[in-house]
Amino acid sequence: MSEQKRIFVTRSSMPSYEEYIEAIKPLWESRWLTNMGQYHQQLEKELSAYLDVPEISLMVNGHMALEMAIQSFGFPEGGEVITTPFTFISTTHAIVRNHLKPVFCDVRAEDGMIDISKIEDLITEKTVAILPVHVFGNLCDVDAIQHIADKYSLKVIYDAAHAFGVTYKGTGVGNFGDVSIFSFHATKVFNTIEGGAVVCKNHDLYEKLYNLKNFGIRGEELVVSVGANAKMNEFAAIMGLLNLKHVDAAIADRKRVYDKYKAELAGVKGISFFVEDPDVKRNYAYCPIIMGKDYSLGRDGLYDKLKENNIFSRKYFYPLTSDQACFKNKHKKEDLDVARKLAESVLVLPIYEGMEEEDQNRILQLIISDIRS
Ligand SMILES: *Cc1c(COP(=O)(O)O)cnc(C)c1O
Repeated sequence: MSEQKRIFVTRSSMPSYEEYIEAIKPLWESRWLTNMGQYHQQLEKELSAYLDVPEISLMVNGHMALEMAIQSFGFPEGGEVITTPFTFISTTHAIVRNHLKPVFCDVRAEDGMIDISKIEDLITEKTVAILPVHVFGNLCDVDAIQHIADKYSLKVIYDAAHAFGVTYKGTGVGNFGDVSIFSFHATKVFNTIEGGAVVCKNHDLYEKLYNLKNFGIRGEELVVSVGANAKMNEFAAIMGLLNLKHVDAAIADRKRVYDKYKAELAGVKGISFFVEDPDVKRNYAYCPIIMGKDYSLGRDGLYDKLKENNIFSRKYFYPLTSDQACFKNKHKKEDLDVARKLAESVLVLPIYEGMEEEDQNRILQLIISDIRS
């Protein structure tokens, strides 16, 4: 048997080689490679328009964007942040690295979002913020979360790493809460190779973030505050400017792949999809399927079978971040039954711009053949 093509869960979107080479040429003239150069500024401008947000600060990656977004509020050490464990480990690390305590809230079975009915029970006098995640580009219940936050004077920080370009009733996802972060990692819908951003409403916060990402430097001889280095460089910004031109086409092509998975799998016994809110314009970043007990191979069995055929799906998000080795027994674990069940039953299928039909058919056949045999 000939070696089967390897198919990964995602594949980075890129401009053509010629386009990128042409676009980076000016850097050999200017020799200005980072430090909020021309392309950094241009990308901030274009992204603030595309994402429909008033202020955006570009960062070296999504994780640092989240760390700095949290840090910008200056919460007291030991403050509690209500968050979910059904996410990438970055979310929880960012809280802990800010010397704050994650307090894990369970999620909803139908879409993996924070369960708003369980938030209030977790609020104590130490609670400083709610940090929900728009998992898989679905949308949290932003109105209800804001209502709770207002009632208890809490900040709302969204991890919108999955939600680039997502809108709710026509409003850009970055407009909810006090602040949101995006990731522009190579594996995300929109990438700058490595990169990320914090988006916010007020310019004071933008200025604070500027200091945090550039050592607090405000003049040749002036440092106004303590900061780190988390700036996006010019090569990354140029990658972003070019990818941004193509991102609508990339999302449309992901939709093609997603719709086909859904059409072929929605009726299969033991396989279901997350509920989709018709008010949300989606970005098709991921194709998660939920495996029930009627699917005889089970989630892990299907993962293994695909892997044996050189198809690399992912068990996102297993284990829950709260159950990871580094956090075992460190943080209070509330009732996380729904999240734990999801972690054991979700499989994310390969989806990316330009996925060949023949490859997708091979994946579908492997999933469906188990049912029919
Ligand atoms: C990717 C991701 C991050 C971190 O972004 P990086 O750009 O990889 O640092 C944070 N949260 C979630 C939910 C992510 O998927």
